[in-house]
Amino acid sequence: MLDLNFDLSHHKILPTLAVESLTGCAGELLVILENVDKLLPYMVVKRFPFAQSSNDNGFCDIALVEGSVSQKHDIEKLIQLRANCRWLVAVGNCALYGCVQKCNNANIKALDEKVYGSFQNTEALPSKPIEAYVKVDVKLSGCPINATQLLSTIASLLKDNFPNITHKPVCLECKLKENPCILIENNEPCLGPITAAGCGALCPSFASPCYGCWGPCEGARVDAMANILTKKGYDLEEILSRINTFGQNIKIV
Ligand code: SF4
Ligand code: SF4
Repeated sequence: MLDLNFDLSHHKILPTLAVESLTGCAGELLVILENVDKLLPYMVVKRFPFAQSSNDNGFCDIALVEGSVSQKHDIEKLIQLRANCRWLVAVGNCALYGCVQKCNNANIKALDEKVYGSFQNTEALPSKPIEAYVKVDVKLSGCPINATQLLSTIASLLKDNFPNITHKPVCLECKLKENPCILIENNEPCLGPITAAGCGALCPSFASPCYGCWGPCEGARVDAMANILTKKGYDLEEILSRINTFGQNIKIV
């Protein structure tokens, strides 16, 4: 249960928060924006360019970073932020895996030509997770992230505790909800067995197959998953495309 009752007596001033975005759709920013009022009694928001016009680049206690690195200025922003925060929390699958803009590891030049008709040299870099450039203290997956998990992570860090984030499969949450299994019963291509829980088994709860938006679970048996789905008549290339949509680079030999 979320505990936001802090004893902040050891802080002379309130702890500080920065929220920064690299390349992404701003989905995590919206989740943070919708919940930032719950943090305001306990923290000062020093930087949140998406939501406020006055921003401070100085040191902060917690930096939340969404988006992947796909431009040179993303790298510069990220390195500056890392140097100026105590805890850096990567929020969302773009920050963790490179996500959809990684385009299943497509060639940047080919993408540039496809989008603009001819090569325009947009100087885009291959989309990479932020951990490729800086140390990350906490990783919150999701597309978008779960608000309760975000708030409990911040609550833990404010108490100088490291958050306990598990990556059990979606099937666990699905079974706790007593949903019928649409993979077994309806032959739907549900990726719940290899996807990290946290969303509350949202899609299978509405009889839609999980498409893996929370990234891989602990010890994901992708080969076994692919085996099951090919036996059910799904094409291996299509399965891998689904699994890799959110930035994985899984190959099955
Ligand atoms: S429906 Fe999907 S998430 Fe639910 S138990 Fe079956 S495979 Fe797992
Ligand atoms: S069930 Fe799967 S695809 Fe749906 S929200 Fe959860 S992790 Fe994402």
